[in-house]
Amino acid sequence: DPGALPAYAKNLNGPQKDAVLTTEGPVLMLAGAGTGKTAALTARLAHLIATRRAWPSEILCVTFTNKAAREMRERVGRHIGDAVEGMPWLGTFHSIGAKMLRRHAELVGLASNYTIIDTDDQLRLLKQLIRENDLDEKRWPARQLASLLDRWKNRGLNPGDLDAVENEAYANGRGQQFYTLYQERLKTLNACDFGDLLLHMLNILRRHRDVLEQYQQRFKYILVDEYQDTNQVQYLWLRLLAQERRNICVVGDDDQSIYSWRGAEVANILKFEKDFPGAAVIKLEQNYRSTPQILAAASGLIDANSQRLGKTLWTDLPAGDRVKAIGVWDGPEEARRLGEDIERLEREGASLDQVAILVRAQYQTREVEDRFIQIGLNYRIIGGFRFYERAEIRDALAYLRVIEQPADDLAFERIYNQPKRGLGAKTLDAMRRHAKRTDMPLAAASIDLCDSDELPARARNSLKALLQQFLLWRENAQSETPANLLRRIVTESGYEEMLQKDRGPESAGRLENLSELARAMEDYDSLTDFLEHVSLVMENDARDQGEKVTIMTMHAAKGLEFDHVFLPGWEEGVFPSQRALDEGGLASLEEERRLAYVAITRAKRRCTILHAANRRIYGQWTSSIPSRFIEELPSEHVEQETTLTGGASLWRANWSEQDDPFAHVSTARPDKSATRGPGWQRALATGYDSKPVRVAENKRSAASFAAKPRSDVAIGARVFHDKFGYGTVADQDGNKLEIAFEKAGTKRVLDSFVKLAE
Ligand code: ATP
Ligand code: MG
Repeated sequence: DPGALPAYAKNLNGPQKDAVLTTEGPVLMLAGAGTGKTAALTARLAHLIATRRAWPSEILCVTFTNKAAREMRERVGRHIGDAVEGMPWLGTFHSIGAKMLRRHAELVGLASNYTIIDTDDQLRLLKQLIRENDLDEKRWPARQLASLLDRWKNRGLNPGDLDAVENEAYANGRGQQFYTLYQERLKTLNACDFGDLLLHMLNILRRHRDVLEQYQQRFKYILVDEYQDTNQVQYLWLRLLAQERRNICVVGDDDQSIYSWRGAEVANILKFEKDFPGAAVIKLEQNYRSTPQILAAASGLIDANSQRLGKTLWTDLPAGDRVKAIGVWDGPEEARRLGEDIERLEREGASLDQVAILVRAQYQTREVEDRFIQIGLNYRIIGGFRFYERAEIRDALAYLRVIEQPADDLAFERIYNQPKRGLGAKTLDAMRRHAKRTDMPLAAASIDLCDSDELPARARNSLKALLQQFLLWRENAQSETPANLLRRIVTESGYEEMLQKDRGPESAGRLENLSELARAMEDYDSLTDFLEHVSLVMENDARDQGEKVTIMTMHAAKGLEFDHVFLPGWEEGVFPSQRALDEGGLASLEEERRLAYVAITRAKRRCTILHAANRRIYGQWTSSIPSRFIEELPSEHVEQETTLTGGASLWRANWSEQDDPFAHVSTARPDKSATRGPGWQRALATGYDSKPVRVAENKRSAASFAAKPRSDVAIGARVFHDKFGYGTVADQDGNKLEIAFEKAGTKRVLDSFVKLAE
């Protein structure tokens, strides 16, 4: 009797309940966006635990992001309480792979405290290999090798598995050789890359029956979200683990397969029934997320794809606004418009947490960020310019890695002369040579080196001091919390002093970042755990307070939902991307269209698309054509905004005409029939007279605008800001001020936005 279901399943519809209650045997849930796939999967997880079909530690549950795992954990926790604490196998493929590999690392020749290197380290390592093997790096760039390695690992291929074609793909038939060299080098460093987390585990499961059986026994149930974006190695890995018990439930949507560029194979979801004969196939058709307008717009768009299963979606949510497509003059105006619209939503009572800006490419965020900083609008960036990728953070992490793992040469190379200790490239060469000769890690070999006369006395002493410091820090690591250890390192290494002396515009911020890193470490008892967390972390905002607009790529937004979604940059060459257009194939264009479908279907209440008529690319202004995807949206569900925002809105945002030469421009956008192809460009040229002149003016005045800090405002001054009220200047960085506002808290604003208070 489904009426008697516990709370976690009560609100589910019929097919969702089937997905929850069909606990035994393979289950495939294939359904469109917003139909409650993830909701049903979460309820299934709660159900399995609540009904004691399995202990939390006996369920393997794979989500696409760490954030999704966190949310699932919270939701299940709400229903079944503390039991969820013990859900060790809920996470992304990478985090689960890392956890398993820690237990079995020795089977692939690693120690259990192995390091996970990131792409930066990987590139440096590859460059070194290329140099050592007398290959011309210009002809055979490290990046190319890195992407091949990624491809091979995603496909589950070991060096010995490469066929002639793959082998040919690098350095005239030396693909296999370099793959082998690279893996060997990683082993000496006691390190692995992201691809290895799964490939090593796959190898272990294939070669060690006992390990495989142990996991096959352990995982009574396997659950996988976003199955359409699994790649070959993930697929093989799951298939092995599920083979025995066959209690595997996968959910996905072929229309949302957007990671084929990273090796994902939509075929995996299409052949599930063949892999697991007798699978129950569950379809969901009711969308609970979006208004009928948003849903119809997205469905109409994805209809243009030829390669799809096709499905019906409906909703009984009340009607809302049509999807809006707004044409603006250029990038800065797009950013201004975003700021205005979002501030209006805020005034109308919307929470900033429910507003997202989704971009096609990372670089698109900068303009928006600049604008939001100017107007003091809080935002968070998810993915992308991650906190942990900033130079000072990477340096600090390198220190920690050397302490944790003395064989971590890449980390040691990063900081042996950072801050400067008078150890240059010559010292590094000597260290490397000695390490190679003695087959030891760099740091260990350097100890030797200090006792020889291969290095000049000054370098020797300096190196010795550093190595001794590491010994002490390693001792400290035994008795201190990771956070305190870091604070000690920052001071004792001279790093802090270096930043304090360096009066550059960024050094204060860099010190702040380091304190923030220590704050982040407070949550960890062990350095190993913290470093693993960093390797896996995908976002930097988990600790941030207050409501914020989310800015992220469309790719990263998969599975998420927001009341209000803004989609800037819908122009040919931006979205669809130039790359997809250059490749010209149907497949890449259809993947872009699926991405557009994912983007639109993130919106619950409002979806706003923007496109600019002009973009500055590499310093050159070029006019652009609206994205074909805008034209493909069913017109009855789309409202085209035909007037560019003009002086009024600029005035509202506190820009004076002098600051912005476009302030007086208010021109009707050409009608829709002229918005495609060269016709649009022509219309543009006639619609806006003397464009080049204005562009030139804009450049000049933008430059002078940015370069002139105010001389009458100083730290400690009391000022007034139209939006935030009274405050005191806490810091001044060029024309940017950090102000502690009495009501609004601390914000960064441009100095031209404040008045000196009497
Ligand atoms: P996507 O394809 O984007 O990952 P999805 O199919 O996983 O979407 P969910 O995120 O699970 O969809 O659900 C979309 C929204 O619908 C969520 O806000 C969820 O809480 C809500 N929802 C799901 N099922 C129901 C239901 N039976 N009744 C009411 N609301 C529901
Ligand atoms: Mg989902």
